[in-house]
Order: sequence, then C-alpha cells, then structure tokens
Amino acid sequence: MDPDSPDRVAAERKPQRVRHEARLRRLEVRKVERLRPHLQRVTVGGAALAGFASPGFDDHVKLFFPAADGVLNLPALGPDGPRYADGPRPEARDYTPRHYDAATQTLQIDFALHDTGPATRWAEQARRGQPLGVGGPRGSVLVPTGFDWHLLIGDDTALPAIARRLAELPAGSRAVVIAEVDGPDDELSFETRADLALSWVHRCGSPAGDPQRLAEALRRRPLPRGDYFAWVAAESGVARALRAQLLAEHGAQPPWLKAAAYWKRGASGVHERIED
Ligand SMILES: Cc1cc2nc3c(=O)[nH]c(=O)nc-3n(C[C@H](O)[C@H](O)[C@H](O)COP(=O)(O)OP(=O)(O)OC[C@H]3O[C@@H](n4cnc5c(N)ncnc54)[C@H](O)[C@@H]3O)c2cc1C
Repeated sequence: MDPDSPDRVAAERKPQRVRHEARLRRLEVRKVERLRPHLQRVTVGGAALAGFASPGFDDHVKLFFPAADGVLNLPALGPDGPRYADGPRPEARDYTPRHYDAATQTLQIDFALHDTGPATRWAEQARRGQPLGVGGPRGSVLVPTGFDWHLLIGDDTALPAIARRLAELPAGSRAVVIAEVDGPDDELSFETRADLALSWVHRCGSPAGDPQRLAEALRRRPLPRGDYFAWVAAESGVARALRAQLLAEHGAQPPWLKAAAYWKRGASGVHERIED
C-alpha cells in the first residue's frame, strides 16, 4: 500500500483497544502529599499490585473506599461480576492511574479536591496504612502519536491523564493543552518531550462545570495546522459543548476526537463517553 495513501494513514492513526484481566486489589496507603491546594496525591502499594498494567494514558481504575469505621468490604470477583459479602457496599469512583512503579509496587492517584463526595472526603483524610480497593483497569485505548499535533482539554480531573499523555508523546511532536483549575496555585508543570503550548484557565472561586471558560480559551488559542487528535475530559455539559465546538469550529475529525464526562453537576460517580 502507498505509504501516503489516506487508507494507510487512517489505519495507522486508529486508536487500538486492549482488554485486561479483571482484577480487584486490596492495597494500603503508603504516602499522602498535597501537591496543590486542590490536588492530593495518594500513593498506594502492596504485593497485590504485581501484574498491574495501564498502557493507556486515559485508563481508569475503580477505587473502593473503606466505610466510616475504616473497614473495606471488597466484593469477590466472580464470573457474573462482583459478589458482595454481608455488610455495607463500599463507595466506588473512577480515577486515572497516574503512575505505576513496578519496582516498588506502588500506584499514584491524584485526587482533585472539590466540595463533597466520598472520594474527595477519603482523599482529604487519607493516612498511611489505610486500605483502598483498586479494580481494573479493565481495558485501555491506545491512541497513536503520529498526528501533526495533539489537543488536550480538561479540568482538574483530566490533569492526571493529560500529564500521562504529555509524558508519552515523542520528541518532535506538538501539543496544545488548555486546562482549567481554580487559580494559579493549582497549576502544574508537565514533563514532556513534545513542543508544548499550555494555557491555564482559572475559575477564581466560582463553581466548576461552566462550559464558557474552556470554550472561550479554545476560541482565543491559535491552533497549529494539520491533522490532530483531540481529547477532552471534564464535567458532562462542558465536555459535550467542547466536542460540538471542536467539530463545528475547529475542524476536528470524529475518528480522532475523544470526549468524556469525568463527572456531572449534581450527580455522583458519572462516566460517559460523549458521542453525539
Ligand atoms: C475515566 C475517569 C477518570 C477519572 N480520573 C480522575 C482523576 O485521576 N482524578 C480526579 O480527581 N478525578 C478523576 N475523575 C473524576 C472523579 O471520578 C469524579 O470527580 C468523582 O465524581 C469524584 O467522586 P466524589 O466522591 O468526590 O464525588 P461524587 O460523590 O461523585 O459527587 C458529589 C458531588 O460533587 C460533584 N463533583 C464531582 N466531581 C467534581 C469535581 N471534580 N469538581 C466539582 N464538583 C464535582 C458532583 O456533581 C456531585 O454534586 C475521573 C473520572 C472518570 C470517569
């Protein structure tokens, strides 16, 4: 096939899906660090992490939190899904595996701290030695890096995935990142070999989940020419609005556009892939 043929280029740029064996691990908190005013890093570890694999930058694990008495009532994984023993079911939420270190058998999770919710409350009080259940990742989507440039847009909850993508992009690639946090103290610096243009958007104390801020930042930002992969993760309405804007105003191509709701205003534990 002609190396420059559109079919070949499309095939090379098609995201690949990988499935992983279902695993549910009981781990223990090893370290807690307040990285930024609204970002808490919790490192968990244990021998159960052996074999953990997270090859996709936007993979997610399901975290299972202990009850108020500190007891973690993890289900057993059977062929028909999780089976719970008697007792209260643990609260569970989706998070990005920020970094897995096979040598030390530790896994970092970065929690964006917001007003309320079992995950946020747990992360704020987390202490060394406490249990945490980690399920998955069940699957990964591997997005090729061979685009003219890469666009990554999101709020605090997207920062772990954005950091992972930037870390894996090869030298010579170009990335544009537009990220929303509460204020300048919450901004992060990213390790990357890519040529990175980074714009921060600040809420300045107003509630998260307003589509206007990221939408306006995207309109203001000069974008490179060429084919690009666009990745968006934010509040449901924000991700939906950005996806529509990318298609209508910024020449995004549906096969190279992935938008996800990482949370939803007024709802708990929401994860939606936004298609239309
Ligand atoms: C695939 C995936 C990966 C994710 N990765 C991460 C990650 O690495 N780090 C991370 O911090 N989050 C991540 N999230 C988002 C996280 O799962 C949600 O924010 C989750 O709702 C938090 O749970 P909670 O118990 O704190 O709040 P919930 O009980 O779910 O919600 C309580 C209330 O808080 C609101 N709320 C939820 N999240 C936010 C928020 N971020 N800002 C403001 N209000 C909010 C809800 O609308 C609700 O009203 C990810 C989500 C998905 C789907």
